[in-house]
Amino acid sequence: MCFAAKRVLSARSDDIHELVVKGLEVKRISVLGVGPAAVVVALLLQRMSFAVQVLGRRRHTPLLEGASPRVVQGLERAGCHHALDVVGHPWQRVSAWGGERRAANGEHVIERSLFDSALIDDLEAAGIDFHDVTVTGTECKGEQVHIDACLPSRQARTFFADFIVDARGKSSPKMAPNPLAGPLSVALTRHYRGALPRHRQTWSESFEAGWAWATADRDGTCSVQCVVDPASLERGIGLDALHARFFRQLRVIPHALGQPVACGSTFARGAQAVLRGALVNERCLRVGDAAYSSDPLSGHGLYEAIAGAFAAAPVINTLLNDPVHGPLAMDYYQRRATLTFAQRARAGVDFYRSEGQWAEHDFWRLRREWSAWRPSLERGPKGLITTAPVVVDGFIRPRSVLVTDRHPLGVRFLAGVELAPLVACLCEGISPDALHTTPSRVRGDLDQIKQAISWLSSVPELSAPTFTSFVDRLRRLMAHDGTRP
Ligand SMILES: Cc1cc2nc3c(=O)[nH]c(=O)nc-3n(C[C@H](O)[C@H](O)[C@H](O)COP(=O)(O)OP(=O)(O)OC[C@H]3O[C@@H](n4cnc5c(N)ncnc54)[C@H](O)[C@@H]3O)c2cc1C
Repeated sequence: MCFAAKRVLSARSDDIHELVVKGLEVKRISVLGVGPAAVVVALLLQRMSFAVQVLGRRRHTPLLEGASPRVVQGLERAGCHHALDVVGHPWQRVSAWGGERRAANGEHVIERSLFDSALIDDLEAAGIDFHDVTVTGTECKGEQVHIDACLPSRQARTFFADFIVDARGKSSPKMAPNPLAGPLSVALTRHYRGALPRHRQTWSESFEAGWAWATADRDGTCSVQCVVDPASLERGIGLDALHARFFRQLRVIPHALGQPVACGSTFARGAQAVLRGALVNERCLRVGDAAYSSDPLSGHGLYEAIAGAFAAAPVINTLLNDPVHGPLAMDYYQRRATLTFAQRARAGVDFYRSEGQWAEHDFWRLRREWSAWRPSLERGPKGLITTAPVVVDGFIRPRSVLVTDRHPLGVRFLAGVELAPLVACLCEGISPDALHTTPSRVRGDLDQIKQAISWLSSVPELSAPTFTSFVDRLRRLMAHDGTRP
């Protein structure tokens, strides 16, 4: 037993620790995996006073991935200071897509073995126990989950927990059929040195057989990742030769890189948008790629892993500390994952469709036509204002939210103003000024109230030329729902 709570409780012996932990009803959570989803969820759960340990296999392979500023914001919120040091400043980005070449917003380029190792430093800085192990199996026995693992020395060891968070990425074992899966892609990556540009830059470029992402660093080292359909990989040809073949089909990237010399061999990674089954039950929750992954074109995998961890922590807190709301929490987590997956899938398909040059080629046709995710975006709960599960003080609770086609999970607050009472007051004919000056159910100053109204009136279902017609629309929709104020 090496749980973080041991230090908090200053217990000397493992047995005593177990008793003390049980006496205080501190629940023990084992997080499996040690990527961004695992580390962020572990940090958040520790802050909720759970006894947390992380059982993960260190990543050793150097891999480059792009990250948006939202990843940085997520890491800041989670307190991953060591990981933030590795992320550094954004690199310049150029996109060659749809026959146009344009400078895009910058992106951070992350070397994953360094980044993941810095995440482990963040765990250690927070006093969370980390075990460098490969998990080989899990089993519920009575009240406990037993976790079998293998140490780097190949020695076997069993760990125990009240709850497990599976954050083992896409290699997490399948517990149920995948409800949704997009076309499978293969990413072939090779590193080079001696590239032309002497500043940090990335390029993305579409070509007949797929798309490519390249990075070039100040010292002339660079990498080129070609994402293609597995059907386009001829049998009997080595990965280096295949990579060279796709590299020759590119126009912009080779021109920008000059004549770099390959160093090291090409390596392949499978990539696929997948929504996995059995995401959550009373003993286990899957997070990050173990729950759902997006097409790598979206470049949102790291962000989704972190955002998913923020959604998972209150769900686990509810399951363990307020089981009455457990079913609501599980429903929230399942719906959030399904909707987020479907929204990402829609954005990915739109992006493939925005490239018209190769529309007839198999790689592009398959990805433009994928539509199995569509029904998941159909509106769930009916009504403009409805009761839905939301996060309140670290727990999942039912609250009144505004649901629109664009916001199927519901929005509770806008600019600090709670939307349900605001809509009710507007339907009663109370003017924004009166809302602000007279005591009312709506909390917020005039500026906040105006911001919230301006957002409401921009929602497609509600937008109207004048304030009066906007309020009429609100009234009609509320009356139609049968939720008259
Ligand atoms: C080809 C490709 C390119 C990508 N490019 C980008 C990009 O540019 N930008 C981006 O944001 N995302 C990108 N992604 C997605 C991104 O890599 C993932 O979405 C992200 O890493 C998910 O984080 P995670 O913590 O869920 O899983 P991971 O980062 O995969 O972490 C899983 C962890 O579990 C550990 N583990 C696995 N099995 C076991 C086991 N049995 N026992 C113990 N530990 C185990 C692993 O060692 C690892 O530490 C790309 C993905 C692919 C496939």
